[in-house]
Amino acid sequence: MALVFKSLRCPHCQQPIDKPLLKQHGLLQAFLKRKPFPCPHCQEQAVLPEKYETLISIGILTAVILAPLLLVWEVSFVDSKLLFGLGAALAIAGLITQKLDKA
Ligand SMILES: [Zn+2]
Repeated sequence: MALVFKSLRCPHCQQPIDKPLLKQHGLLQAFLKRKPFPCPHCQEQAVLPEKYETLISIGILTAVILAPLLLVWEVSFVDSKLLFGLGAALAIAGLITQKLDKA
């Protein structure tokens, strides 16, 4: 299942594309499976790329799993806090930059 946290814009016509709109046009499954789908506004092909989710996943993993582990292993407390900050920053960067690509 794709992680989409904000409304995305068509890479061709810049019109917002959200889940209810895709559902209405029967395109939601293609969108969630990262298959190219025609934009409901301009009919050009768009696709949801995986790279932003990878960034979000790595960020969450680092902040939520790796940072507390370092703390448990009694590696320097400051380092684990830095790692948590880095993970959170990665996840946020993934969220902010997430967008549709031209297919
Ligand atoms: Zn469009």
